[in-house]
Formats: sequence, C-alpha cells, structure tokens
Amino acid sequence: MRQIDNFINGEFVASSVGRRFEKRSPVDNRVIASIAEAGQPEVDQAVTAAKRALTGEWGKLATNERVDLLYQVADEITRRFDDFVDAEMADTGQPQHVMSQVFIPRGAANFKVFADIIKNVPTESFHMDTPDGRGALNYGVRVPKGVIGVVAPWNAPFLLMTWKVGPALACGNTVVVKPSEESPLTATLLGEVMNKVGIPKGVYNVINGFGPDSAGEFLTRHKDVDAITFTGETRTGSAIMKAASDGIRDVSFEMGGKNAGIVFADCDFDKAIDGIFRSAFLNTGQVCLGTERVYVERPAFDRFVAALKEKVENVKFGRPTDNGVNYGPLISQEHRQKVLSYYAKAKEDGATIVTGGGVPEMPGELAEGAWVQPTIWTDLQESSAVIQEEIFGPCCHIRPFDTEEEVIELANASDYGLSTTIWTDNLTRAHRVAAKVDVGITWVNSWFLRDLRTAFGGAKTSGIGREGGVHSLEFYTEMRNVCIKM
Ligand code: NAD
Repeated sequence: MRQIDNFINGEFVASSVGRRFEKRSPVDNRVIASIAEAGQPEVDQAVTAAKRALTGEWGKLATNERVDLLYQVADEITRRFDDFVDAEMADTGQPQHVMSQVFIPRGAANFKVFADIIKNVPTESFHMDTPDGRGALNYGVRVPKGVIGVVAPWNAPFLLMTWKVGPALACGNTVVVKPSEESPLTATLLGEVMNKVGIPKGVYNVINGFGPDSAGEFLTRHKDVDAITFTGETRTGSAIMKAASDGIRDVSFEMGGKNAGIVFADCDFDKAIDGIFRSAFLNTGQVCLGTERVYVERPAFDRFVAALKEKVENVKFGRPTDNGVNYGPLISQEHRQKVLSYYAKAKEDGATIVTGGGVPEMPGELAEGAWVQPTIWTDLQESSAVIQEEIFGPCCHIRPFDTEEEVIELANASDYGLSTTIWTDNLTRAHRVAAKVDVGITWVNSWFLRDLRTAFGGAKTSGIGREGGVHSLEFYTEMRNVCIKM
C-alpha cells in the first residue's frame, strides 16, 4: 500500500493534525493508498513556500532558463512514463492504453507546449501622439500573477492538473495544487520529478484532502493565493467563487457539461458510430466533454440506435492491464451510487432501455469494484432530470429530430454549454450549425481532438474564462502598461 504525503517546499510531509484517509481501487475496492490530509497548518506552509519562491531563485530566472527547466520536467515524466501510467491506473482503474496513449503523454506535453508559447508570444506596443509633438511610447509587460491555487478533479487527474500547472509555471507563477481526494497519486509523483530536475523549492506544492472544511476550502480561502484555477462540478465552482470574492481574486473555471451529439443522416455512418461511442463511453463516460444527449436525424435513427447498441454490448470489462480491455469501472462506490440513481430515474421516467441499465456480473474480486453497465436509452421527455443533469457516467439518451432548427433548439436547451460534436458530410451545414450551438468547443466529424494552442472552456454554467495557447496567458499573467514620454 502506498503512503502518500503532502509535498511542501520540496519535501514530503505528513499531516500535523495526524489525519490520514484511504484511497480504494475502483477495480476491486481494495485499499491502495493511505493519504495524509493537509490541515490549515500544511496549507499555510504550502502557500507561504509558494509566495517566498516567487521572489527567490525561481523569480530571478530568465525566461529561457525557466523554459529549459519545464522541458526537463516533460522529459523526466517521459523517462518515468511507466510509473505515471501505473499511478494513474491505480487511481482511476481505466485501461492501460488510455493512460499510455492519451492521458500521460498529453500531461507531459502540457509543459512543453506552454514553455514554447511563453518563449514566443509578443506583447503590444502603441505609439501615441502628444500635443508637444514628441509623442509617447506604450508597451505591455506580462508579469506572473503570483501564487496560483490549482483545484483539480479525478476524471483525468494528471492531464487536467498539468493543463493548469504547465502554463502557470511557464508564466513564472508558483502553484499549490489540491488534487482530488480520489486521485492523488500522479500529483505526488510530479513532486519527485520537480525535485529531480531542480525546480526550486516552493514552486510546486501539493496538499491533499477534501473540499469543504478541508484542504480545498483552506486553499481557496487563503488570502495569499492570488488566483484560483478550478476544474470540477459547477456547484463546487459556485462555492469557490464565493471564497475567491474575499480579496477579489481572479478565477478560471472549467466545469460540468451535458453535451449534445448531433448526427445528420448524410454523415459517414460508421465514423459517426465510432465517434459517438467514444464520446459517450470513453473513460466510462467520465469526461466533461462527453456526450450524454444524442440527437439523430430521423432517417438514420433506427439504424443508429441498433449499431451503437451492438458496439456497446461488445465492450470488454476487466482490469486495466488485462488483454483487450477497453472499459473500466467508475471512480468510486459513491459515484456509482450517483450514476445508478440516474439509471433508476430513467426507468421511473419511462425510458426504453436499449441496453444496460444496471450492474454487470463481475468475476471474483472484481465483483467488489465500482462497475456499471454502459447504457443507452430512448423515449425520454427532454424535461427528465436524466436529460437535464450531468450524470458523468457511461450512458446516453438518443432522440430523433426532423429539422436543423429543431436540433439546434434541443442542443441549446441546457444550462450547460461546454461542447458539442456534429456529424455530417455537408460542410456548409456544419459551419451553419456550429455557429448556432451555444458552447465553448464544437467538433465536426470528430471529438476530443485537442490542439493545445486553441481556446478551451465552457459557455453558460460550464465555465468562466478560456485556457489554452495564448488564452492561458490572460489568466496566468498580469498585463502591465509602461508609458514613456519621448
Ligand atoms: P468536484 O467539484 O466534486 O471536485 C473537484 C475538486 O474540487 C476536488 O479536488 C475537490 O476536493 C474540490 N472541492 C470540492 N468542494 C470544494 C470546496 N468547497 N472548496 C474547494 N475545493 C473543493 O468535481 P469531481 O467530481 O472531482 O469532477 C467531476 C466534475 O468535473 C464533473 O462535473 C465534470 O464535468 C467536471 N470536469 C470539467 C472539465 C472541463 O474542462 N470543463 C474537465 C473535467 C471534469
């Protein structure tokens, strides 16, 4: 069993209040780690270390030196690739190939991409006329914002945490990370990497624990945290925003979604089936960008439902490292209760269960894991909670539509506005519909195809602000203007 401590000022430290909590494997419910819960003293120490580091060795580095160090971080993650894959698999129970092909490499890439951006991005400059004819020169200077509080979720722990830590450090800030209580392992491992490559002490800190009345709340309420970047549920974002209002601290939020998939009858059918299968069931449906509402143009509806059903019924359950496994458990027993409550609600609301709807029979020790069947429904009213609320599980509802106007209205009838995926071979239509769906990210004939230089974030209750590429600089730096009279 792993012993996980907090990482403060370059050292692994236990909890001064002596509290530890258990992390259980989603696969078979075994205890796999004992984690030191940070109390207020540890959070204070971490924030103080981060604040001190801003003006120490780290703050004095030239941009090129900082960039070199971040390249070394990425290279060291790659050198310890198997350790990161193992840690992430242990926390999430998801198949090895997803970790090794997507989540860990992209986590490493987050350090290089933002290092490149900060090296190359220009600032603005304006010449200004003055009455004496000599003029004045204005130029912008970007400076780090300070200590960034990073509050991360469990569904793609390393990818989502480094998506914030990468740009924060590239811009010269220091960070205190609060990983999810469900997935602390890779954030801790990253502490070892930081020490190995010589990132100065206090630049990267990790405090473990829960949200309210624990490390998450202590961090977000801390007056020396200059800005907070958060990924997680919308109602948590609301609580953090209240905390951030004391001291008027800036926030960047990436939150929940109830994303629509729109399938037109003229699409490449097989590609659309593969695409919606991925968007609804990858990571056992625990992807914020995932599709839980699918709208299919009526002529293709019956064939689409039958083909997706067949694909879903062929998923292979098992341990992350078992051969051919492409479907894992949910993150925890608690999350399983939540997902199963929606399965029950769908039944109550009169859904036709096309496939799934329950708990699979798993052999041996796996019977104790957080498994649920991947599930497809039809025939629900749009007003059902199953259609309106984010379930964050391996399930989708499919409904037919007749016109473009109708499907745009259906897609937009949600408090969320994170992403959508549109399937059509008519490019004119794709442009037209993409412009009208009220979301932060639209994919056409694809899903989760991420160019890290592009803006990422949600509309409506799905987010505040944009991260990615130069957009991250808006949050992670303070822009100053210098005006020089000639
Ligand atoms: P969550 O909101 O329960 O927890 C996220 C983090 O916030 C955890 O570290 C948790 O401990 C902390 N936290 C909880 N309450 C807090 C409080 N009061 N103060 C400070 N910190 C607090 O979310 P989750 O269950 O870990 O993740 C799933 C959610 O994340 C889903 O809603 C999903 O859509 C969303 N998500 C969004 C994106 C995106 O990019 N938009 C990406 C991934 C996940």
